[in-house]
Amino acid sequence: MSRFYLDHNATTPLHPEVADAMADLLGSGGGGGNPSSIHAEGRAARKMIEEAREKVAALLAVSPTELVFTSGGTEADNLALLGAAASRPSRGRHLVASTSEHSAVLEPVRRLESQGWEVTWVSPNLDGMVAPDAVFAALRPDTALATVMAANNEVGTLQPVEEIGTRLRTEGILFHCDGVQALGKIPACHPRRWNADYAAFSAHKINGPKGIGVLYVRKGAPIVAQAAGGTQERGLRGGTENVIGILGFGKAAEVWLRDGEMERARLTAMRDALSDALRGRIPDAIINGEQAPRVPNTLHITLPGCPADLMVMALDMRGLAVSAGSACASGSVKHSHVILAMGLGKEAASASLRISLGQGNRLTDVPEIVEAIASVAAAVRAN
Ligand code: PLP
Repeated sequence: MSRFYLDHNATTPLHPEVADAMADLLGSGGGGGNPSSIHAEGRAARKMIEEAREKVAALLAVSPTELVFTSGGTEADNLALLGAAASRPSRGRHLVASTSEHSAVLEPVRRLESQGWEVTWVSPNLDGMVAPDAVFAALRPDTALATVMAANNEVGTLQPVEEIGTRLRTEGILFHCDGVQALGKIPACHPRRWNADYAAFSAHKINGPKGIGVLYVRKGAPIVAQAAGGTQERGLRGGTENVIGILGFGKAAEVWLRDGEMERARLTAMRDALSDALRGRIPDAIINGEQAPRVPNTLHITLPGCPADLMVMALDMRGLAVSAGSACASGSVKHSHVILAMGLGKEAASASLRISLGQGNRLTDVPEIVEAIASVAAAVRAN
């Protein structure tokens, strides 16, 4: 039986060039000295970090001095939001956030709320798009901070962050953008274009290693470190650097800068073929976010009458790794907060699947994937 990994928004396999670069470093002792040491071994490790920083900066079209390496997207989101709030912005303690954010943003925002910040939550429309006017309508004289993601991790909808960021900048409101799912997937994943003060990214979504991410902090944007104890990363993220992870991130960024255009075209063609074929086989399938601009690799479908948790398990047995729009926690089905936020209702929130394509998938795989989904859906509906 063939096996198809279709869950690249959860994580991606290492690109072979990334794996080779990391294996070489592991084979030679794992990264030399401590990058903070001034001896030759320390300087060699420092050099690797700075070379990787330049590669990540090139992909993001920012200055390497504006990047802070973190343990991943979650830490980068936390550092941006908690660090900006701790800088005590003079405008006040009101924050605007969208309800369809990843928990890496939702939870620090809720923490700020529990610490006395007032939060206005803005919901996306039926396609998963956060309308700029809805964000602007939420702004107040004491709004200090706003956060809207660049691309949604479930539905794949691209948000109008450029328009949102431009207005926020003119009003003097700090803007954080979670760019984790946009990296590699859009041609210009550039925080400066979004007028973002902060933007979070993660290596494992672009065929880099897990456990390494980066926060873009615009030169001059206020931020207070959240970890006490070290002066690494310009004092913004103390702790001895994850040299091998950073090296892998740099390599992945280099590969995506080189191959991104071709890969995005390939993924778009495959996603559209999959979408057409699925609709052909399952006429009542609903493609979510179809009317909005989307990342090229993501297909989010509602299959009425097919509980997502059952589908994920049955598809796994048929050789397909996909993800549910709802997560099954401790035996109880948790509805997808994104689908609920989009106003699609509880039934859709528990009967939606996310198929996210990537490196190992091929256009020629589409018929077999569609056949598996259609026959599993028919079996689930028959029971
Ligand atoms: N933000 C978004 C939109 C994500 O999709 C993810 C991961 O799924 C994260 C943040 C967290 O990134 P990490 O897994 O690197 O902590």
